[in-house]
Amino acid sequence: MDRQLIEQTAELAARFLAGVRDRPVGPPVDVASLRAALDVALSDDGVEAGTVIGELAAGADPGLVATPGSRYFGFVVGGALPVSVAADWLGSAWDQNAGVYALSPAMAVIEQVTASWVLDLLGLPAGAGVGFVTGATMANVTCLAAARHDRLRRVGWDVEQDGLPGAPRVHLIAGAEAHVSVYAALRLLGFGQAAVSTVDVDEQGRMLPAALARALDSCQGPTIVIAQVGNVNSGACDPIGEVAAITREHGAWLHVDGAFGLWAAAGPRLRHLVDGLELADSWATDAHKWLNVPYDSGIAVIADPAAHRAAMATTYVAEGGPEAAYLQAGRTGARDGDDWVPEASRRARALPVYAALRHLGRRGVADLVQRCCRLAARLADRVAADERVEVLNEVELNQVCVRFRPPAGGDPDAFVHAVIERVQRDGTCWAGATRWRGTVAMRLSVSNWSTTDTDIDRTADAILAALG
Ligand SMILES: *Cc1c(COP(=O)(O)O)cnc(C)c1O
Repeated sequence: MDRQLIEQTAELAARFLAGVRDRPVGPPVDVASLRAALDVALSDDGVEAGTVIGELAAGADPGLVATPGSRYFGFVVGGALPVSVAADWLGSAWDQNAGVYALSPAMAVIEQVTASWVLDLLGLPAGAGVGFVTGATMANVTCLAAARHDRLRRVGWDVEQDGLPGAPRVHLIAGAEAHVSVYAALRLLGFGQAAVSTVDVDEQGRMLPAALARALDSCQGPTIVIAQVGNVNSGACDPIGEVAAITREHGAWLHVDGAFGLWAAAGPRLRHLVDGLELADSWATDAHKWLNVPYDSGIAVIADPAAHRAAMATTYVAEGGPEAAYLQAGRTGARDGDDWVPEASRRARALPVYAALRHLGRRGVADLVQRCCRLAARLADRVAADERVEVLNEVELNQVCVRFRPPAGGDPDAFVHAVIERVQRDGTCWAGATRWRGTVAMRLSVSNWSTTDTDIDRTADAILAALG
């Protein structure tokens, strides 16, 4: 390998990271000029590697968003801890296939260790199955596939062998505020989204236990309940202990979508928001959001490892099923990563998670999530001090939803959109629009390890200045 190329690349990356805090967060970009720089003719004979990297970096730069920076508050986007970026680079250089043990014993062991750390930190059952996937969407797919397997197996149906046609009906129940990716996961698994019964939620978006009990009362047979911790708008968590007790009483499977909210379990001051979490059957989360590792990194956890493996193992061999002896599954007595995820060949996705957890330690993870929540509350307080601003949610986690009173006679929704546009154009920070309980709002998600009090104050000032 060309050392000069590695050094040139390290320099480009270091320069980007050194400037990411100060560059305009979401600069207006012109698609035509981006294309002009990047849409070069594909040559016959190729281009020297250093030139490719140099021109790639220069051409992409105007179209990069400072999402890893300290004042990006759109969607739910974590940054990437330097140690996790470093581990990710090393992982790319090693180019290990984390599919099976035989392909990379080191990566298999790292994955296993990381899995046990994650279970420990989040207070989940020590024997649970853990799969390192691309994001919470695929974590939801993985968990719900295990739920589908287990609930159908209990009524004598082998879904891996016989599929869904002719299978007993599986009842699906989710809160009215379930994330869209839950529906995407259910579609992939062969459940039409129309099959989902939704349960009413309170004004913060939390599932109402009594409504869940009523929904469960009307279901006979295999049933899966899908709860949420961490609503993308309000940050609210379903009352998971109560939800778990009711679900259990009815003999149903409880899945928890905790893409970012699950990390509340790692913060002693936040843990009460997810009390009873360990009573669920499966949990989906992201590491690329609140744990601040590079994309793409999600984690699927399933309390019953047998159900997990049965739903995911590449080498699922029922009688007469396909076999792939060359994969040497189980021969080594060690853990094969591909038994726990939909993919076979895959990058060593656990590596940056391992590095982040090892670097932060228990207290570091707790500080990261608790600091983000404290900063979200600070931001809410700062903007709410202006009488034209209304904070719409209880800021108990890291999300803030705000609305602005327009000048007399102005249209409220149009005014919120106008303010958001001015904030984005200004470039001090980035926040997007949402619709929360029937009205347009600006939403901010504080999810980055590098955000400071000063960043929050600058952000509040930029938002208030955009009110005109
Ligand atoms: C972000 C998010 C998802 C989807 O996660 P990806 O990592 O984008 O696949 C699912 N559920 C919730 C609550 C989320 O916030």
